[in-house]
Amino acid sequence: MAKVVCVLYDDPVDGYPKSYPRDDLPKIDRYPDGQTLPTPKAIDFKPGALLGSVSGELGLRKYLESNGHTLVVTSDKDGANSVLDRELPDAEIIISQPFWPAYMTAERIAKSPKLKMIVTAGIGSDHTDLQAAIDRKLTVAEVTFCNSISVSEHVVMMILSLVRNYIPSYQWVVKGGWNIADCVTRSYDVEGMHVGTVAAGRIGLAVLRRLKPFDMHLHYFDRHRLPEAVEKELNLTWHPTVEDMVKVCDVVTINCPLHPETEHLFDDKMISKMKRGAFIVNTARGKICDRDAIVRALESGQLAGYAGDVWFPQPAPKDHPWRSMPHHGMTPHISGTSLSAQARYAAGVREILECYFEGRPIRDEYLIVEGGKLAGVGAHSYSAGNATSGSEEAAKFKKSA
Ligand code: NDP
Repeated sequence: MAKVVCVLYDDPVDGYPKSYPRDDLPKIDRYPDGQTLPTPKAIDFKPGALLGSVSGELGLRKYLESNGHTLVVTSDKDGANSVLDRELPDAEIIISQPFWPAYMTAERIAKSPKLKMIVTAGIGSDHTDLQAAIDRKLTVAEVTFCNSISVSEHVVMMILSLVRNYIPSYQWVVKGGWNIADCVTRSYDVEGMHVGTVAAGRIGLAVLRRLKPFDMHLHYFDRHRLPEAVEKELNLTWHPTVEDMVKVCDVVTINCPLHPETEHLFDDKMISKMKRGAFIVNTARGKICDRDAIVRALESGQLAGYAGDVWFPQPAPKDHPWRSMPHHGMTPHISGTSLSAQARYAAGVREILECYFEGRPIRDEYLIVEGGKLAGVGAHSYSAGNATSGSEEAAKFKKSA
């Protein structure tokens, strides 16, 4: 029988919710490319409930315990004496969400002799040292597409918020002001602006589709080009390099995975190639941007605004400079963990576990690493290597709490 360790974010400060603002979730039949939603044999939760926090347990306890397995759920994941570290020696499966990642470094993998599988309840497995997982022949799986549309909605919200200067204007109202001039000296329309996405995968393409009705000029960079029919339909301009694209864009949205090729892609050099006063929205991974280069660019005016929900490490220490830099619209990592998204990825994790325990193959579209190599979606979108270095800094959040 297996020990499953599930690392989840803390419950709300006022306790686990007893009720919710809405009674149900809209029914979605398929993802936009035709992929089916998760198909577990059963679920033990009500869609719309908070599943991603410790008491929500991703709705897994009944299923696992009734099959004789042990489930340990904790939010204590960083530092040498964390619950996660203490559970590693006999854990067979580790589950965590990118919002509150269990950083599965090579050291942690080495401390886990029984480990067979690492599951991302969400999308993006960069918190696992993929090279170490490949070397140990572990399975790494994630719930592809579960929250891609959720994130694309957040990106559109953040682009509009930054360009139209929404957050400072809202703050004037809360402060009791009516300071129209203060609000509008940084406020523009997106109409006619050039917006470019770094990567046009599930999220990037969904962002482009959602921005089309705003009459923006749409650009993209990706290693693989989209079908000609899609380029024509959306009137897209493809660029052979990121540098080539950022030169012409007023807004850049980052939607590629974090892997060694994309780590610190947006450094001083790349940002210096952008138009003065451009905006960046990054909901992909914090480490794709050089932390201090972003701060410098906002302070100098090279960037007019930066928003996103991804940081490095997570949780971000209280003194992380992105909390206090000018003209930012940061949130904690929430875009992919709306209640709507949670219902999908909790069902997806259940499907992955059912496959694992019943000896059935896990869908190719969920696989990142299997049998000692990148596999499935991982073989298409990731490169081998390690992007977890520096993650030990996440322990600083606990110390400063
Ligand atoms: P997809 O796999 O559909 O898309 C990723 C795209 O990135 C692919 O088109 C891939 O290109 C492209 N890509 C890979 N490497 C590079 C590179 N070096 N330069 C440019 N493009 C590259 O994933 P999603 O769109 O669903 O998600 C993208 C990322 O967003 C995730 O990896 C994750 O990091 C992040 N994410 C964030 C969430 C949040 O809550 N904030 C939630 C979900 C995801 P190709 O395959 O053509 O080579």
